Amino acid sequence: MTRRLLFVLGSPHGRWSIQLMVLMVVVALLPWAVLIDLARWGWRRWRIARLLGAETVRCPRGHTVVLVAPGWQCHTCGFVYSGSGFHSCPQCGTVAAYVSCACGCSVPNPLFELVQS
Ligand SMILES: [Zn+2]
Ligand SMILES: [Zn+2]
Repeated sequence: MTRRLLFVLGSPHGRWSIQLMVLMVVVALLPWAVLIDLARWGWRRWRIARLLGAETVRCPRGHTVVLVAPGWQCHTCGFVYSGSGFHSCPQCGTVAAYVSCACGCSVPNPLFELVQS
């Protein structure tokens, strides 16, 4: 949101009076945009931290998937470890993109998304 506002400020609008009005609107909205972006960032971090600490998650069909269990196998190096299926492999550091439910559905790993960005 903040980036979008700054883009509006940077694009040419012809007459200086219009440009001044755009500047005033952007300056008025900027603190709110920064606040909203911060809130979104905080909410995302909090959600990810909660999921990483969770012992179970729900698959899209509503089944309970146990996250903290022995016997997770790394897709990259094949190392078998115990702990949360969302955490990185202790051997090679790879983060699994998802964990699978017994019904065949996948539950996306929030840590994977964080590592990619
Ligand atoms: Zn591994
Ligand atoms: Zn399921």
